[in-house]
Amino acid sequence: MPTYEYECRGCKKTFEKFQPITAKPIRKCPDCGGPVHRLIGAGAGIIFKGSGFYQTDYRSENYKKKQKEESQPVSCKNSPTGTCPSGGCKAANA
Ligand SMILES: [Zn+2]
Repeated sequence: MPTYEYECRGCKKTFEKFQPITAKPIRKCPDCGGPVHRLIGAGAGIIFKGSGFYQTDYRSENYKKKQKEESQPVSCKNSPTGTCPSGGCKAANA
C-alpha cells in the first residue's frame, strides 16, 4: 500500500496517510477540518515506505534461483539411473 502525502490549505500542516491505492483521497484536515490537497509531482505523491517491496522481490528472486538449482538432476550412485531428480538422495548420501 502506498503512502500519500497531503497538505492542509488551512493550517499548512502536511501529513502522510497510508491508504490502499483504491481509497478516496482525504479532503479534510484531521486537525482543523480545512481543505487538504494531495501532494503530487516531483516524483512525490506516492511514497513507498520501507523496503518491504524490495525485500519481497529479492526473496522471490532468490527463491526462484534456489528452486531452479534444486530441480537439476544430481548425480547419485544410489540411483539406478545415475542421477537423482530434485536432490532427493542428498539426505541419503549424507
Ligand atoms: Zn489543517
